[in-house]
Parts: sequence; C-alpha cells; structure tokens
Amino acid sequence: MTVRFQAPARKAIDFAMVEMERVGDQTLSSLHLLLGLLEPSAEGVGLALRMLGVNPAALQLDARRDIHLARTGELDPEIAEAPELLLERAGRISDQCGATDIADADMLMACAQDLRTWAGKLLAASGVTPPLLWGVFPQARGVLRHPGAPDPLAGIEMLEVTFPPSFVPTLPVRTGIGYDSHRFGVGGPLILGGIEIPGEVKLIGHSDADAVCHALTDAVLGGAGAGDIGELFPDTDAGNRGRNSIEMLRLACQAAERRGWRVAQVDLTVIIERPKLLPYRDAMRLSLAHALGLPADAVSVKAKTNEGMGWVGRGEGIACMAVATLIPVRKAT
Ligand code: MG
Repeated sequence: MTVRFQAPARKAIDFAMVEMERVGDQTLSSLHLLLGLLEPSAEGVGLALRMLGVNPAALQLDARRDIHLARTGELDPEIAEAPELLLERAGRISDQCGATDIADADMLMACAQDLRTWAGKLLAASGVTPPLLWGVFPQARGVLRHPGAPDPLAGIEMLEVTFPPSFVPTLPVRTGIGYDSHRFGVGGPLILGGIEIPGEVKLIGHSDADAVCHALTDAVLGGAGAGDIGELFPDTDAGNRGRNSIEMLRLACQAAERRGWRVAQVDLTVIIERPKLLPYRDAMRLSLAHALGLPADAVSVKAKTNEGMGWVGRGEGIACMAVATLIPVRKAT
C-alpha cells in the first residue's frame, strides 16, 4: 500500500486542513479534500478537469456551497471516516499504476469513485464520472499507457451514481457525425432504419446495406471516440455478410457506453430520389429509437431528394447523413 504523497497531493491535503479550520469545521470532509485538490497548485487535477470541459474554478465555488450546506445540515450525512477511505482508495489506485507515491490525480479518481461521499456526488453531478476520468487519467497521472498494456485501474471498484429523473446534465456533451451511401440493386425489399420498405429495389452491400443504420452507427462511434463501423464490422469478415444493421447499431451503442458515453439524441437526413420515405418515416423513427433506447422524439428522420442531380438524382443509390449527441453514462433512479 502506497503511503507517500507527491508534492501536489501533499499540498492538497494541507490546504484541505487549512480550509477546514478556516470555516470552523471540526472534522475533515471529502469536500475539504476536493477543495484542496482544486487549488491551482494541483496540476494533474486541473489538467484532467479541463480535458473533461469542467472549469475547476466553478467546481471550487460548488464545493464551497456544499460545505456551507453541510454545515447547516442541508446535505445527507457523509460517512464519518470518508477522507481516510478516500486516501486509502487513492493509495490502491497509485499501486495499480505501478507508482511509488500518491498523485493528486489518484485522489481525484478516488473521490469520483466513492459516490457515498459529498465530493463524489458533486463530481458526478458536474460530469466527472470514473469512466470519463479514466479516459484522461494517463495524461493527468503522468503514466504512459502502451497499446495492449493492462488497465492500471482494472479491479478498482466503480460505484454507480443515482440521479433523480429530473436531473439534466449540462456538461460535457459530445457530437458525432456519420455518412453512408449504397447503390440500388434489383429486387426488394429495401431495408432502411431497420424496417422493410416493399418494392422492386434493394440496396447492395456486404451486410443488409442499411445506409441509415450505418451512418448512425458511425455517428455514435465517432462521438464516443470508438473508431468507425469498418473497424468494428470489417467487410473482410464473413460473419458480417448479410448482417442485421440494427444489431450493429446496438453494439456500437454498447461500445460507446464502455467508454462512458450514451446516446441522448440523433438527427438523420436521407437523400433519396425514390421511393418517397414519408409513409415509412415514423416506423423508421420507432425502430431506431428502440435500438438506441431513446424516446421517439429524440430520433429525427428527414428525407430529401437531390433535385434530380448526380447519381442520387438518377436513382442509382441513396446517401444518408447522421448526427448523434452523446452524454455521460448515468444510472437513472
Ligand atoms: Mg454502409
């Protein structure tokens, strides 16, 4: 078990003690510790938060507000020995990184992981969740992660946070963009957005050639920084021949969730000369919403012609563009 602290971590603890005394509290809480970590001298913590789009100064204000609420009894009680447990947890994180001392980033990760504490709840409400923090952790911790190297945090317990249904996260939010096109062939049905459109044409491709799902899959993967559809489902893999693209979309969402992101809303534009998609639009929305786990009003499908111009205008194939908005994974109550 690591017991030595790097200089920024030591400074954070010292500042936490000063802060506790300054406001007249009798015991050290996780919020005092978080305030200490938010001091500008704690470089790793500041870097991690800025990479997540969180303003350390704003978080400092929130922590001071919560310290006041705790003193007036307006916060649920925190477990009494929370700071000691957090430091123990930081030591285990440091050990798993192969380090000989505790860094300020280890302490921030420990706070984020323990959602029984005030600091953990405040970090989660600010969008600083363990999976997201893990994404920027190597830079903040100053450890290098080589391709194929084991995850230094493997086995560290990740506690889940619960939020009231009314909770709306504000930051961070990510956006992904996707595009796909497929050529028409003879013989239906045409499969778009997971539904079958009867007629004499279908799309040609290695899978079921559902260009709507493919564009959306790339938007989801792009927003999560999880690669692209060609990497996940290569057309050199015989197992992907004729594959159901709704299933591929679901797997892409799971890949995004493993990286800490879930889809909140998508918007699609299908560029197609014929058939007209309006009669099938709502069925496509429902099909995609079901695959994404979203309400139908969070899925928009629009169709346009290409005004007779180019290969789309000549009816040789269709194109689809998609945008996906992703927010941090959270467990709703
Ligand atoms: Mg495709």
